[in-house]
Amino acid sequence: MKLILLGAPGAGKGTQAEILSRMCNIPTISTGNILRAAMKNGTPVGLKAKEYVDSGKLVPDDVIIGIVRERLSEDDCKNGYILDGMPRTIPQAQALEDAGIEIDVALSIEIADETIIERMSGRRVCKECSASYHIVNIPPKVEGKCDICGGELIIRKDDAPETVKERLAVYHKETEPLKDFYAERGKLKSVENQPTVDGTTKLVLKALGL
Ligand code: AMP
Repeated sequence: MKLILLGAPGAGKGTQAEILSRMCNIPTISTGNILRAAMKNGTPVGLKAKEYVDSGKLVPDDVIIGIVRERLSEDDCKNGYILDGMPRTIPQAQALEDAGIEIDVALSIEIADETIIERMSGRRVCKECSASYHIVNIPPKVEGKCDICGGELIIRKDDAPETVKERLAVYHKETEPLKDFYAERGKLKSVENQPTVDGTTKLVLKALGL
């Protein structure tokens, strides 16, 4: 399965991607995680991306397209993958098509902006492995520690309320038009985000026929 997860920041794409990735045994390619790792390691891509990521703006298309094309050519992607957070613009979607990368489904997780703003204030991520938690909805077993690797849980810099508002505005302007792009190709499916992770997963699995 070659799947694209669409949805506003905080819609739960990363959480659902991790679940599907384990279930279907295919990798999740999260451009956000790749960029954060590059920033942490101070690579040339990381240095270039930092000002955009920290202010809630989109990293230029050519940087993202390069990263994703390289990642998709790796061996573990040959049986399928989940793209989380890419494409985020029409040129990125077009670049995938131009590179002959055919996807099966673009699944949009729908959620109201007000719910996102409430939710982002509780999000925590592991400083080491990027696993995502929520202090109420998906609490770690030990407060402040990652269940998977024991790393410290931190608040993402771009989850600050003002930056979240900017990211939502960017989403509506640049990314939401992708729903029409994939609908025109008969590839769009949508689910409504539910109050619990399990509730959303059920709808996601049903939409994908799994
Ligand atoms: P995310 O973790 O998906 O919310 O991404 C965090 C930030 O990384 C975004 O706000 C952007 O600055 C950048 N980013 C991630 N994916 C992309 C993309 N496909 N295109 C442009 N910027 C991206």
